Amino acid sequence: MTDDILALAREQVLERGEALRRDQVLEVLQLPDDRLDELLALAHEVRMRWCGPEIEVEGIISLKTGGCPEDCHFCSQSGLFSSPVRSAWLDIPSLVEAAKQTAKTGATEFCIVAAVRGPDERLLAQVAAGIEAIRNEVDIQIACSLGMLTQEQVDKLAAMGVHRYNHNLETARSHFPNVVTTHTWEERWETLRMVAKAGMEVCSGGILGMGETLEQRAEFAADLAELNPDEVPLNFLNPRPGTPFGDLEVLPAADALRAVAAFRLALPRTMLRFAGGREITLGDLGAKQGILGGINAIIVGNYLTTLGRPAETDLELLDDLQMPIKALNATL
Ligand code: SF4
Repeated sequence: MTDDILALAREQVLERGEALRRDQVLEVLQLPDDRLDELLALAHEVRMRWCGPEIEVEGIISLKTGGCPEDCHFCSQSGLFSSPVRSAWLDIPSLVEAAKQTAKTGATEFCIVAAVRGPDERLLAQVAAGIEAIRNEVDIQIACSLGMLTQEQVDKLAAMGVHRYNHNLETARSHFPNVVTTHTWEERWETLRMVAKAGMEVCSGGILGMGETLEQRAEFAADLAELNPDEVPLNFLNPRPGTPFGDLEVLPAADALRAVAAFRLALPRTMLRFAGGREITLGDLGAKQGILGGINAIIVGNYLTTLGRPAETDLELLDDLQMPIKALNATL
């Protein structure tokens, strides 16, 4: 029996498919920089063994931007901060056009996002109309991210045929009150529980680099493992001017990559998606390292409030790495 965490992870996660526990994730997060390459290589092997070589590509669109009543300290869409994102709605033809463009990149998932605490009647009606219009013209699965839901709203979205629902836990339960004060981590958890029960795929991740300790990062990975979502989007804080987290430091690239690999070892079978903030945290080289270090899903095009990379750059990278894009018929 070895006490080296990577040798242990190789045996436990790679060979047996058993996730690392919280204390083991912490050991991984504490590994020195000179073991980073070895860690990333192992995370990549785990991803290839338990998820396969395919990469899922998703596009996201903001149906309602800005003016949110909540106070998530990282978010430039909160109406409570002085950040420059103002409230705006997208019309249905633009939504359909965005879905078309997304499908052209090879994406199988199109996520409709609204900056709200939870949907009201008007928003749900817009979403229903949008989904119908997209269905008539585009072959793509539809995901939604509309905040916290009631059971009735969960049922409505399931009846509309929403394939996956995104609602991020954002951070460890113990750190959440330092990030959001207008609702609780438990309220978020409850929405996710209802979504899973209704048969929709669950997508839940968060943002790293919001002042959490390594212990809390490990706690967060364990929280997510307990939730057992189909997808975990990993964002890295991109400090937005005017938000309470506007002055936080960007997470160092080595820490971000260590976290990606650690989350893969905590979630061996889950789709792990590179979401926002990776450009400023990791740069071009880091994107490649992440995709070879446990990541198996990406978002193409623009993110919600900050610019991402052009879709072609990412798609070329996948081509270079000889990673096939997951096809629609393989996801049904
Ligand atoms: S993260 Fe969502 S709920 Fe929180 S302020 Fe931003 S849009 Fe609102």
